Amino acid sequence: MADVVLSVLAHPDDAEILCAGVLIRLVREHGWQAHIATMTPGDCGSAELPAEEISRIRRGESARAAACIGATYHCLEERDLLVFYQERSLERVTRLLRQVRPRIVLTHSPADYMLDHEMTSSIVRAAAFAAPIPNFLRDRESGPPLEHIPHLYYCDPIEGKDPLGRDVPPGFCVDISHVITSKSDMLACHASQRDWLLKHHGIDHYLEAMRQWGQQRGVHCGVGYAEGFRQHRGHSYPQDNLLGQVLGGLGSA
Ligand SMILES: [Zn+2]
Repeated sequence: MADVVLSVLAHPDDAEILCAGVLIRLVREHGWQAHIATMTPGDCGSAELPAEEISRIRRGESARAAACIGATYHCLEERDLLVFYQERSLERVTRLLRQVRPRIVLTHSPADYMLDHEMTSSIVRAAAFAAPIPNFLRDRESGPPLEHIPHLYYCDPIEGKDPLGRDVPPGFCVDISHVITSKSDMLACHASQRDWLLKHHGIDHYLEAMRQWGQQRGVHCGVGYAEGFRQHRGHSYPQDNLLGQVLGGLGSA
């Protein structure tokens, strides 16, 4: 059976901005199976469309982006600005972990520009710890427990900054130079967001901003384009850098 990588990020398009390069490389170069999950369907991501309609559009965009690399898309159906570390969300992510059984899990930085990202980070961290515990959700048919805690990695925060504007340096980087076009193609599936960001943030360079950030991380480690990660290495989580070993992590790990 193929190894599995799962990204659990807050919103549709977060994976395509923060970690799609790694997903593409694991799938294409190493035969891994990828799953892309979002906590919400991006229901606040439109200035004109009602929540239900933009959610439907964005689930479709996410599924199309995932399909570019043969990945499966999952929406955990929380709501924008209402992602909380609580029983329901923890149960949903734990169920997903027990269903797809990943070796590597990617999520948001614990410190990031908005709370949906930080909450998602906490939920995923807790679910990775909980998924192997047999008594957790035993009475709710949540699937067989994992054999052990998966390798957990935090993506760069947006713009590499914490909420106080301080730089968050990556633990290591992964060279994505040769897959940057595919990453851009995946992000381009999120057509609704190009319009929305233009209106709300005044940014018209949706794809360009992603490339620029990748370039900046590339400069950090001496390649064209890169993605940065930090590994969760708290007590009982795996200590070896599996992702760095498989994809040739650059910089200190
Ligand atoms: Zn987001």
